[in-house]
Amino acid sequence: MSQLRVAGIVPESVVDGPGFRYAIFTQGCRHNCPGCQNPQTHDFEGGYVVDTDDLFAEMMEDPLIKGMTFSGGDPFEQPVPLAELAARAHAAGKDIVTYTGYTYEQLLAKAQHEPAVMDLLRETDVLIDGPFILAQRNLELKFRGSDNQRVIDVRQSLASGEVVTFEFE
Ligand code: SF4
Repeated sequence: MSQLRVAGIVPESVVDGPGFRYAIFTQGCRHNCPGCQNPQTHDFEGGYVVDTDDLFAEMMEDPLIKGMTFSGGDPFEQPVPLAELAARAHAAGKDIVTYTGYTYEQLLAKAQHEPAVMDLLRETDVLIDGPFILAQRNLELKFRGSDNQRVIDVRQSLASGEVVTFEFE
């Protein structure tokens, strides 16, 4: 059982990654991207606290769910409960998409002094990284907001030591 501070939950989302997804919007973000669509998620004292057991149980009640999405806020501000939750979801055959305002390279650096960051990276199948940049906003991008944001195959990237990206179909 772990506690997670969230801004909200969308139990059946089709806009936060491929397939039907149990989307968790974490509370707390320090990136302050101009043009952010969710400024109410920035305050680290805002939102509400949930038990990750309850989130997992709710997801498992819905047979249509392909996987979990962690968005925000920035999920990498709460890597400990999210890595645990992602591991349980993987064990149940679900995949994990994680959004972050940090770049992949920044997360690797952060993981040097915060091991849970690597735990969450290892439990992430697809990482959509980098801040939202208003000047690079592109409404045609699938599941992301601006051209600088990459869709990263984390497993291949960690294995190869290079950033492996792809496009959602
Ligand atoms: S990382 Fe996301 S939630 Fe945070 S300020 Fe940027 S767009 Fe907003």
